[in-house]
Amino acid sequence: MNYLYESTRSEKLTSTPSNAILKGLSDDGGLFVLKDIKNLSVDIESLKGKTYYEIAETVISKLLSDFSMEQINACVHGAYENKFSSEDITPLVKVGDDYILELFKGPTSAFKDVGLSILPHFMTTAMKINNVEDEVVILTATSGDTGKAALEGFKDVEGTSIIVFYPKEGVSKVQERQMVTTEGNNTFVGSIYGNFDDAQSGVKKIFTNKEFLAEQKEKGIVYSSANSINIGRLIPQMVYYFKAYADLMDRNEVVYPEKVDFVVPTGNFGNILAGYFAKLLGLPVGTLVCASNENNVLTDFLNEGVYDRNRPFHKTISPSMDILISSNLERLLYYMSGCDNAYVKQCMDSLNSTGKYAVTDEIKEKIQKEFFGGCATNTETSFVIKKVYEEKGYLLDPHTAVAYKVMEDFKTKNNANKCVVLSTASPYKFTKDVYEAVFGKTDMEEFVCMKELNKKTGVDIPNNLKDLESKPVLHNASMPKEDMIQFVSDCKKGN
Ligand SMILES: *Cc1c(COP(=O)(O)O)cnc(C)c1O
Repeated sequence: MNYLYESTRSEKLTSTPSNAILKGLSDDGGLFVLKDIKNLSVDIESLKGKTYYEIAETVISKLLSDFSMEQINACVHGAYENKFSSEDITPLVKVGDDYILELFKGPTSAFKDVGLSILPHFMTTAMKINNVEDEVVILTATSGDTGKAALEGFKDVEGTSIIVFYPKEGVSKVQERQMVTTEGNNTFVGSIYGNFDDAQSGVKKIFTNKEFLAEQKEKGIVYSSANSINIGRLIPQMVYYFKAYADLMDRNEVVYPEKVDFVVPTGNFGNILAGYFAKLLGLPVGTLVCASNENNVLTDFLNEGVYDRNRPFHKTISPSMDILISSNLERLLYYMSGCDNAYVKQCMDSLNSTGKYAVTDEIKEKIQKEFFGGCATNTETSFVIKKVYEEKGYLLDPHTAVAYKVMEDFKTKNNANKCVVLSTASPYKFTKDVYEAVFGKTDMEEFVCMKELNKKTGVDIPNNLKDLESKPVLHNASMPKEDMIQFVSDCKKGN
Protein backbone atom coordinates (compact mmCIF):
# COMPACT_ATOMS: atom_id res chain seq x y z
CA MET A 1 0.00 0.00 0.00
CA ASN A 2 1.38 3.36 -1.03
CA TYR A 3 0.71 6.18 1.39
CA LEU A 4 0.82 9.76 0.21
CA TYR A 5 2.22 12.63 2.21
CA GLU A 6 0.45 15.98 2.13
CA SER A 7 1.31 19.54 3.04
CA THR A 8 0.36 20.60 6.56
CA ARG A 9 -1.22 23.64 4.92
CA SER A 10 -3.09 22.07 2.01
CA GLU A 11 -4.52 18.60 1.51
CA LYS A 12 -4.33 19.09 -2.24
CA LEU A 13 -0.54 19.24 -2.29
CA THR A 14 0.35 15.58 -2.00
CA SER A 15 3.56 13.70 -2.61
CA THR A 16 4.92 10.17 -2.60
CA PRO A 17 7.31 9.46 0.28
CA SER A 18 10.37 9.49 -1.98
CA ASN A 19 9.38 12.76 -3.59
CA ALA A 20 8.67 14.35 -0.21
CA ILE A 21 12.25 13.50 0.76
CA LEU A 22 13.59 15.07 -2.42
CA LYS A 23 11.55 18.24 -2.00
CA GLY A 24 12.07 18.73 1.74
CA LEU A 25 9.44 21.46 1.93
CA SER A 26 6.06 21.57 0.21
CA ASP A 27 5.48 24.19 -2.52
CA ASP A 28 3.22 26.25 -0.27
CA GLY A 29 5.83 26.42 2.50
CA GLY A 30 4.04 23.71 4.49
CA LEU A 31 5.68 20.57 5.84
CA PHE A 32 5.02 17.06 4.59
CA VAL A 33 2.91 14.88 6.88
CA LEU A 34 1.40 11.43 6.60
CA LYS A 35 -2.32 11.71 7.22
CA ASP A 36 -2.70 7.96 7.56
CA ILE A 37 -0.02 7.50 10.18
CA LYS A 38 -2.61 6.43 12.76
CA ASN A 39 -3.59 3.51 10.55
CA LEU A 40 -0.06 2.13 10.67
CA SER A 41 1.39 0.23 13.58
CA VAL A 42 4.50 -1.55 14.73
CA ASP A 43 4.25 -4.83 16.68
CA ILE A 44 6.17 -3.78 19.77
CA GLU A 45 6.70 -7.19 21.35
CA SER A 46 8.24 -8.47 18.14
CA LEU A 47 11.09 -5.98 18.64
CA LYS A 48 12.48 -7.97 21.58
CA GLY A 49 16.05 -9.04 20.97
CA LYS A 50 16.27 -7.17 17.66
CA THR A 51 19.30 -5.16 16.55
CA TYR A 52 19.18 -1.46 15.72
CA TYR A 53 19.30 -2.35 12.03
CA GLU A 54 16.35 -4.71 12.24
CA ILE A 55 14.26 -2.25 14.22
CA ALA A 56 15.17 0.53 11.78
CA GLU A 57 14.05 -1.55 8.80
CA THR A 58 10.75 -2.41 10.48
CA VAL A 59 9.94 1.19 11.41
CA ILE A 60 11.20 2.91 8.28
CA SER A 61 9.42 0.56 5.89
CA LYS A 62 6.08 1.61 7.41
CA LEU A 63 6.69 5.23 6.48
CA LEU A 64 8.55 5.01 3.18
CA SER A 65 6.09 2.83 1.33
CA ASP A 66 7.54 3.40 -2.15
CA PHE A 67 11.00 2.16 -1.11
CA SER A 68 11.60 -1.58 -1.46
CA MET A 69 12.79 -3.60 1.56
CA GLU A 70 16.11 -4.12 -0.24
CA GLN A 71 16.51 -0.36 -0.69
CA ILE A 72 15.71 0.33 2.96
CA ASN A 73 18.11 -2.37 4.07
CA ALA A 74 20.88 -0.81 1.95
CA CYS A 75 20.14 2.69 3.30
CA VAL A 76 20.21 1.54 6.93
CA HIS A 77 23.45 -0.41 6.60
CA GLY A 78 25.11 2.26 4.47
CA ALA A 79 24.26 4.88 7.07
CA TYR A 80 25.27 3.23 10.31
CA GLU A 81 27.61 0.31 9.74
CA ASN A 82 31.12 1.12 10.97
CA LYS A 83 30.19 4.81 11.26
CA PHE A 84 29.02 4.83 14.86
CA SER A 85 31.31 4.06 17.77
CA SER A 86 28.75 1.79 19.46
CA GLU A 87 27.31 -1.41 18.03
CA ASP A 88 24.00 -0.47 19.60
CA ILE A 89 24.12 2.78 17.57
CA THR A 90 22.13 4.50 20.35
CA PRO A 91 23.13 2.83 23.65
CA LEU A 92 20.85 3.07 26.69
CA VAL A 93 22.66 3.67 29.97
CA LYS A 94 21.12 3.41 33.42
CA VAL A 95 21.95 6.35 35.66
CA GLY A 96 20.34 6.13 39.10
CA ASP A 97 16.68 5.26 38.59
CA ASP A 98 16.62 6.78 35.12
CA TYR A 99 17.95 5.97 31.69
CA ILE A 100 20.06 8.03 29.36
CA LEU A 101 19.73 7.30 25.67
CA GLU A 102 23.07 8.25 24.13
CA LEU A 103 22.39 9.59 20.67
CA PHE A 104 25.86 11.02 20.13
CA LYS A 105 27.94 8.05 19.02
CA GLY A 106 28.03 9.11 15.36
CA PRO A 107 30.73 10.79 13.25
CA THR A 108 30.19 14.31 14.71
CA SER A 109 29.24 13.41 18.30
CA ALA A 110 25.73 14.90 18.13
CA PHE A 111 22.32 13.27 17.83
CA LYS A 112 21.78 14.80 14.41
CA ASP A 113 24.11 12.14 13.00
CA VAL A 114 21.30 9.60 13.40
CA GLY A 115 19.13 11.40 10.85
CA LEU A 116 21.80 12.92 8.69
CA SER A 117 23.84 9.77 8.17
CA ILE A 118 20.90 8.13 6.45
CA LEU A 119 19.39 11.12 4.64
CA PRO A 120 21.91 11.08 1.75
CA HIS A 121 21.12 7.39 1.21
CA PHE A 122 17.40 8.12 1.24
CA MET A 123 17.96 10.95 -1.24
CA THR A 124 20.06 9.07 -3.74
CA THR A 125 17.57 6.18 -3.55
CA ALA A 126 14.66 8.61 -3.99
CA MET A 127 16.43 10.06 -7.04
CA LYS A 128 16.57 6.58 -8.58
CA ILE A 129 12.93 5.89 -7.77
CA ASN A 130 11.90 9.17 -9.45
CA ASN A 131 14.38 9.03 -12.36
CA VAL A 132 15.87 12.35 -11.31
CA GLU A 133 19.06 13.17 -13.11
CA ASP A 134 19.50 16.69 -11.77
CA GLU A 135 22.08 17.46 -9.17
CA VAL A 136 20.50 17.77 -5.72
CA VAL A 137 21.93 20.65 -3.71
CA ILE A 138 21.30 20.50 0.01
CA LEU A 139 20.73 23.88 1.58
CA THR A 140 20.87 24.01 5.34
CA ALA A 141 20.76 26.48 8.20
CA THR A 142 22.30 25.24 11.41
CA SER A 143 22.40 26.22 15.04
CA GLY A 144 25.61 24.20 15.25
CA ASP A 145 25.17 20.47 15.09
CA THR A 146 23.09 19.99 11.95
CA GLY A 147 25.72 21.69 9.83
CA LYS A 148 28.60 19.38 10.54
CA ALA A 149 26.44 16.27 10.61
CA ALA A 150 24.99 17.19 7.19
CA LEU A 151 28.41 18.02 5.78
CA GLU A 152 29.73 14.64 6.91
CA GLY A 153 26.65 12.82 5.65
CA PHE A 154 26.71 14.32 2.15
CA LYS A 155 30.47 14.75 1.72
CA ASP A 156 31.47 13.27 -1.65
CA VAL A 157 28.06 11.61 -2.19
CA GLU A 158 27.69 11.51 -5.95
CA GLY A 159 24.93 13.62 -7.51
CA THR A 160 24.70 15.89 -4.45
CA SER A 161 26.28 19.03 -3.03
CA ILE A 162 25.83 20.59 0.36
CA ILE A 163 25.76 24.26 1.43
CA VAL A 164 25.64 25.10 5.14
CA PHE A 165 24.93 28.47 6.79
CA TYR A 166 25.55 29.09 10.48
CA PRO A 167 25.19 32.16 12.73
CA LYS A 168 28.69 33.58 13.21
CA GLU A 169 28.36 34.18 16.95
CA GLY A 170 25.82 31.46 17.63
CA VAL A 171 27.81 28.23 17.65
CA SER A 172 30.52 26.84 19.90
CA LYS A 173 34.22 27.00 18.98
CA VAL A 174 34.31 23.26 18.51
CA GLN A 175 31.18 23.29 16.34
CA GLU A 176 32.58 26.06 14.13
CA ARG A 177 35.92 24.32 13.83
CA GLN A 178 34.20 21.07 12.89
CA MET A 179 32.39 22.79 10.03
CA VAL A 180 35.15 24.94 8.58
CA THR A 181 37.58 22.03 8.42
CA THR A 182 35.24 19.83 6.36
CA GLU A 183 36.85 18.17 3.40
CA GLY A 184 35.14 16.91 0.23
CA ASN A 185 34.73 18.49 -3.20
CA ASN A 186 30.98 19.16 -2.85
CA THR A 187 30.90 20.95 0.52
CA PHE A 188 30.35 24.71 1.08
CA VAL A 189 30.11 26.62 4.37
CA GLY A 190 29.20 30.27 5.09
CA SER A 191 28.60 32.17 8.32
CA ILE A 192 25.83 34.78 8.72
CA TYR A 193 25.92 38.00 10.75
CA GLY A 194 22.84 37.23 12.81
CA ASN A 195 21.26 34.44 14.81
CA PHE A 196 19.94 31.02 13.85
CA ASP A 197 16.50 32.33 12.98
CA ASP A 198 18.11 34.75 10.49
CA ALA A 199 19.97 31.89 8.87
CA GLN A 200 16.89 29.68 8.81
CA SER A 201 14.56 32.35 7.40
CA GLY A 202 17.22 33.15 4.77
CA VAL A 203 17.20 29.53 3.65
CA LYS A 204 13.40 29.42 3.65
CA LYS A 205 13.38 32.50 1.44
CA ILE A 206 15.56 30.81 -1.14
CA PHE A 207 13.29 27.74 -1.09
CA THR A 208 10.25 29.89 -1.83
CA ASN A 209 11.95 32.05 -4.50
CA LYS A 210 10.26 30.55 -7.56
CA GLU A 211 12.20 32.62 -10.06
CA PHE A 212 15.57 31.59 -8.66
CA LEU A 213 14.56 27.94 -8.45
CA ALA A 214 13.32 27.90 -12.05
CA GLU A 215 16.55 29.47 -13.25
CA GLN A 216 18.59 26.87 -11.40
CA LYS A 217 16.42 24.01 -12.63
CA GLU A 218 17.31 25.08 -16.17
CA LYS A 219 20.92 24.39 -15.22
CA GLY A 220 20.04 20.94 -13.88
CA ILE A 221 20.16 21.92 -10.23
CA VAL A 222 17.38 21.23 -7.72
CA TYR A 223 17.46 22.32 -4.09
CA SER A 224 16.49 20.34 -1.06
CA SER A 225 16.73 20.65 2.68
CA ALA A 226 18.57 18.69 5.32
CA ASN A 227 16.91 20.61 8.16
CA SER A 228 14.68 18.64 10.48
CA ILE A 229 11.71 19.77 8.41
CA ASN A 230 12.66 17.02 5.94
CA ILE A 231 10.73 13.83 6.72
CA GLY A 232 13.83 11.90 5.69
CA ARG A 233 15.37 13.06 8.95
CA LEU A 234 12.36 12.71 11.16
CA ILE A 235 11.66 9.12 10.19
CA PRO A 236 15.07 7.69 11.21
CA GLN A 237 14.75 9.61 14.49
CA MET A 238 11.71 7.53 15.41
CA VAL A 239 13.83 4.41 15.40
CA TYR A 240 15.75 5.05 18.62
CA TYR A 241 12.55 5.46 20.62
CA PHE A 242 11.63 1.92 19.60
CA LYS A 243 15.18 0.71 20.21
CA ALA A 244 15.22 2.20 23.72
CA TYR A 245 11.94 0.46 24.52
CA ALA A 246 13.22 -2.82 23.07
CA ASP A 247 16.35 -2.53 25.24
CA LEU A 248 14.18 -1.97 28.32
CA MET A 249 12.16 -5.08 27.46
CA ASP A 250 15.34 -7.10 26.85
CA ARG A 251 16.67 -6.10 30.27
CA ASN A 252 13.34 -6.89 31.95
CA GLU A 253 13.09 -3.29 33.08
CA VAL A 254 9.66 -2.91 31.48
CA VAL A 255 7.02 -5.40 30.44
CA TYR A 256 4.91 -4.45 27.42
CA PRO A 257 2.59 -2.45 27.48
CA GLU A 258 4.09 -0.56 30.43
CA LYS A 259 4.49 3.08 29.51
CA VAL A 260 7.76 4.99 29.45
CA ASP A 261 8.21 8.78 29.59
CA PHE A 262 10.76 10.36 27.28
CA VAL A 263 12.50 13.61 28.15
CA VAL A 264 13.80 15.54 25.16
CA PRO A 265 16.05 18.61 24.97
CA THR A 266 14.19 20.55 22.32
CA GLY A 267 14.91 23.26 19.74
CA ASN A 268 13.23 22.87 16.39
CA PHE A 269 10.83 20.25 17.82
CA GLY A 270 12.10 17.52 15.48
CA ASN A 271 13.47 15.05 17.99
CA ILE A 272 10.45 15.15 20.28
CA LEU A 273 8.02 15.04 17.35
CA ALA A 274 9.66 11.78 16.25
CA GLY A 275 8.74 10.48 19.72
CA TYR A 276 5.13 11.51 19.15
CA PHE A 277 5.15 9.70 15.79
CA ALA A 278 6.52 6.61 17.53
CA LYS A 279 3.58 6.85 19.92
CA LEU A 280 1.13 7.11 17.01
CA LEU A 281 2.67 3.91 15.66
CA GLY A 282 1.89 2.12 18.90
CA LEU A 283 4.92 2.61 21.16
CA PRO A 284 3.73 2.79 24.82
CA VAL A 285 4.87 6.35 25.46
CA GLY A 286 3.48 8.07 28.55
CA THR A 287 4.42 11.74 28.56
CA LEU A 288 6.77 13.45 26.15
CA VAL A 289 8.65 15.95 28.27
CA CYS A 290 9.73 18.96 26.23
CA ALA A 291 12.78 20.63 27.77
CA SER A 292 13.85 24.14 26.74
CA ASN A 293 16.62 26.46 27.83
CA GLU A 294 16.11 30.20 28.48
CA ASN A 295 14.57 30.47 25.01
CA ASN A 296 11.45 28.94 26.52
CA VAL A 297 8.90 29.75 23.86
CA LEU A 298 7.79 26.10 23.81
CA THR A 299 7.37 25.91 27.58
CA ASP A 300 4.99 28.86 27.42
CA PHE A 301 3.18 27.38 24.45
CA LEU A 302 2.65 24.03 26.14
CA ASN A 303 1.45 25.67 29.34
CA GLU A 304 -0.67 28.48 27.91
CA GLY A 305 -1.56 27.55 24.34
CA VAL A 306 -0.03 30.74 22.96
CA TYR A 307 3.02 30.64 20.74
CA ASP A 308 4.74 34.00 20.88
CA ARG A 309 8.18 34.50 19.40
CA ASN A 310 8.21 38.21 20.27
CA ARG A 311 10.71 37.97 23.09
CA PRO A 312 14.42 38.49 23.61
CA PHE A 313 16.74 35.94 22.06
CA HIS A 314 19.13 34.43 24.63
CA LYS A 315 22.51 32.98 23.85
CA THR A 316 22.89 30.04 26.21
CA ILE A 317 25.35 27.25 27.00
CA SER A 318 23.04 24.90 25.07
CA PRO A 319 23.25 26.76 21.74
CA SER A 320 21.66 24.04 19.60
CA MET A 321 18.42 24.84 21.41
CA ASP A 322 18.65 28.62 20.97
CA ILE A 323 15.62 28.80 18.73
CA LEU A 324 12.49 30.95 18.77
CA ILE A 325 10.70 29.40 15.81
CA SER A 326 10.31 25.67 16.27
CA SER A 327 9.40 24.68 12.72
CA ASN A 328 8.28 21.14 13.43
CA LEU A 329 5.59 22.30 15.82
CA GLU A 330 3.56 22.91 12.68
CA ARG A 331 3.31 19.15 12.23
CA LEU A 332 2.04 18.68 15.76
CA LEU A 333 -0.62 21.33 15.15
CA TYR A 334 -1.70 19.44 12.07
CA TYR A 335 -2.33 16.23 14.00
CA MET A 336 -3.75 17.92 17.08
CA SER A 337 -6.25 19.89 14.99
CA GLY A 338 -7.50 16.65 13.44
CA CYS A 339 -5.54 17.16 10.18
CA ASP A 340 -7.15 20.56 9.60
CA ASN A 341 -4.88 22.11 6.93
CA ALA A 342 -6.76 25.40 6.85
CA TYR A 343 -6.39 25.78 10.60
CA VAL A 344 -2.64 25.13 10.42
CA LYS A 345 -2.27 27.62 7.59
CA GLN A 346 -4.12 30.25 9.59
CA CYS A 347 -1.80 29.76 12.58
CA MET A 348 1.31 29.89 10.39
CA ASP A 349 0.11 33.01 8.57
CA SER A 350 -0.41 34.62 11.93
CA LEU A 351 3.08 33.52 13.06
CA ASN A 352 4.54 35.05 9.91
CA SER A 353 2.75 38.37 10.18
CA THR A 354 2.61 38.94 13.95
CA GLY A 355 5.12 36.41 15.36
CA LYS A 356 2.33 34.86 17.35
CA TYR A 357 -0.69 32.55 17.37
CA ALA A 358 -3.02 31.02 19.93
CA VAL A 359 -4.59 27.57 19.67
CA THR A 360 -8.13 26.72 20.78
CA ASP A 361 -8.64 25.43 24.32
CA GLU A 362 -9.60 22.07 22.90
CA ILE A 363 -6.29 21.74 21.07
CA LYS A 364 -4.37 23.02 24.05
CA GLU A 365 -5.86 20.37 26.30
CA LYS A 366 -5.21 17.66 23.77
CA ILE A 367 -1.56 18.69 23.56
CA GLN A 368 -1.24 18.84 27.35
CA LYS A 369 -2.39 15.22 27.59
CA GLU A 370 0.66 14.15 25.62
CA PHE A 371 3.32 16.75 26.47
CA PHE A 372 4.82 18.42 29.53
CA GLY A 373 6.85 21.60 29.02
CA GLY A 374 9.61 22.89 31.26
CA CYS A 375 12.79 24.93 31.04
CA ALA A 376 16.15 25.50 32.70
CA THR A 377 18.33 28.58 33.04
CA ASN A 378 22.08 28.55 32.38
CA THR A 379 22.77 28.50 36.11
CA GLU A 380 20.43 25.58 36.68
CA THR A 381 21.98 23.74 33.75
CA SER A 382 25.54 24.11 35.08
CA PHE A 383 24.39 23.08 38.53
CA VAL A 384 22.83 19.89 37.19
CA ILE A 385 26.00 18.98 35.27
CA LYS A 386 27.99 19.24 38.49
CA LYS A 387 25.44 17.45 40.64
CA VAL A 388 24.93 14.49 38.30
CA TYR A 389 28.68 14.10 37.84
CA GLU A 390 29.37 14.20 41.57
CA GLU A 391 26.44 12.07 42.67
CA LYS A 392 26.12 9.61 39.81
CA GLY A 393 29.48 9.77 38.03
CA TYR A 394 27.85 10.60 34.69
CA LEU A 395 29.04 13.58 32.64
CA LEU A 396 26.15 15.39 30.90
CA ASP A 397 26.51 17.83 28.04
CA PRO A 398 24.60 21.11 28.57
CA HIS A 399 21.69 20.16 26.28
CA THR A 400 21.17 16.87 28.07
CA ALA A 401 21.53 18.69 31.39
CA VAL A 402 18.63 20.98 30.46
CA ALA A 403 16.54 17.86 29.90
CA TYR A 404 17.73 16.29 33.15
CA LYS A 405 16.70 19.35 35.13
CA VAL A 406 13.26 19.44 33.50
CA MET A 407 12.85 15.72 34.20
CA GLU A 408 13.38 16.44 37.90
CA ASP A 409 10.70 19.16 37.80
CA PHE A 410 8.37 16.84 35.91
CA LYS A 411 8.81 14.08 38.46
CA THR A 412 8.03 16.31 41.42
CA LYS A 413 4.82 17.48 39.78
CA ASN A 414 3.63 14.21 38.26
CA ASN A 415 3.33 10.51 38.81
CA ALA A 416 6.04 9.67 36.30
CA ASN A 417 6.69 6.38 34.53
CA LYS A 418 10.24 5.16 34.00
CA CYS A 419 12.05 8.06 32.39
CA VAL A 420 14.41 7.99 29.43
CA VAL A 421 16.42 11.17 28.89
CA LEU A 422 17.57 11.67 25.32
CA SER A 423 21.20 12.74 25.36
CA THR A 424 21.90 14.80 22.28
CA ALA A 425 25.62 15.59 22.41
CA SER A 426 28.93 14.44 23.79
CA PRO A 427 30.09 16.66 26.68
CA TYR A 428 33.27 17.23 24.66
CA LYS A 429 31.38 19.22 22.04
CA PHE A 430 30.87 21.86 24.74
CA THR A 431 34.00 21.19 26.73
CA LYS A 432 34.57 24.53 28.34
CA ASP A 433 31.07 24.98 29.74
CA VAL A 434 31.04 21.41 30.99
CA TYR A 435 34.49 21.76 32.55
CA GLU A 436 33.59 25.02 34.27
CA ALA A 437 30.30 23.59 35.56
CA VAL A 438 32.14 20.80 37.34
CA PHE A 439 35.53 22.27 38.23
CA GLY A 440 35.01 26.04 38.21
CA LYS A 441 36.19 28.88 35.97
CA THR A 442 39.22 28.35 33.76
CA ASP A 443 41.29 30.28 31.22
CA MET A 444 42.32 27.13 29.44
CA GLU A 445 41.95 27.16 25.71
CA GLU A 446 39.20 24.84 24.37
CA PHE A 447 41.42 21.97 23.23
CA VAL A 448 43.65 22.06 26.31
CA CYS A 449 40.48 22.00 28.37
CA MET A 450 39.34 18.92 26.49
CA LYS A 451 42.42 16.97 27.51
CA GLU A 452 42.16 18.21 31.09
CA LEU A 453 38.49 17.20 31.34
CA ASN A 454 39.43 13.77 30.07
CA LYS A 455 42.24 13.50 32.61
CA LYS A 456 40.04 14.51 35.52
CA THR A 457 36.92 12.49 34.66
CA GLY A 458 38.27 9.53 32.70
CA VAL A 459 35.45 9.97 30.15
CA ASP A 460 36.83 9.19 26.67
CA ILE A 461 37.15 11.95 24.07
CA PRO A 462 35.41 10.90 20.82
CA ASN A 463 37.95 10.29 18.04
CA ASN A 464 36.46 12.88 15.67
CA LEU A 465 37.03 15.64 18.25
CA LYS A 466 40.53 14.53 19.26
CA ASP A 467 42.20 15.43 15.96
CA LEU A 468 40.15 18.56 15.22
CA GLU A 469 42.73 21.00 16.50
CA SER A 470 45.33 20.14 13.89
CA LYS A 471 43.02 20.16 10.85
CA PRO A 472 43.36 23.04 8.34
CA VAL A 473 40.54 25.60 7.88
CA LEU A 474 39.07 25.15 4.40
CA HIS A 475 36.02 27.47 4.56
CA ASN A 476 36.00 31.11 5.64
CA ALA A 477 33.09 33.00 3.97
CA SER A 478 31.02 35.40 6.15
CA MET A 479 28.08 37.51 4.96
CA PRO A 480 24.90 39.43 5.86
CA LYS A 481 21.78 37.33 5.35
CA GLU A 482 20.79 39.32 2.27
CA ASP A 483 23.80 37.84 0.46
CA MET A 484 22.93 34.20 1.06
CA ILE A 485 21.25 33.73 -2.30
CA GLN A 486 24.27 35.11 -4.13
CA PHE A 487 26.54 32.77 -2.19
CA VAL A 488 24.38 29.82 -3.18
CA SER A 489 24.42 30.81 -6.78
CA ASP A 490 28.20 31.32 -6.74
CA CYS A 491 28.88 27.95 -5.10
CA LYS A 492 27.28 26.20 -8.01
CA LYS A 493 28.95 28.22 -10.74
CA GLY A 494 32.21 26.38 -10.38
CA ASN A 495 30.78 22.95 -11.16
C1 LIG B 1 19.57 19.99 17.35
C2 LIG B 1 19.85 19.71 18.74
C3 LIG B 1 18.84 19.75 19.71
C4 LIG B 1 17.41 20.11 19.36
O1 LIG B 1 16.76 19.13 18.59
P1 LIG B 1 15.46 19.51 17.77
O2 LIG B 1 15.16 18.31 16.95
O3 LIG B 1 15.82 20.70 16.92
O4 LIG B 1 14.40 19.83 18.76
C5 LIG B 1 19.18 19.45 21.02
N1 LIG B 1 20.46 19.18 21.37
C6 LIG B 1 21.45 19.14 20.47
C7 LIG B 1 22.83 18.86 20.94
C8 LIG B 1 21.19 19.40 19.14
O5 LIG B 1 22.18 19.36 18.25
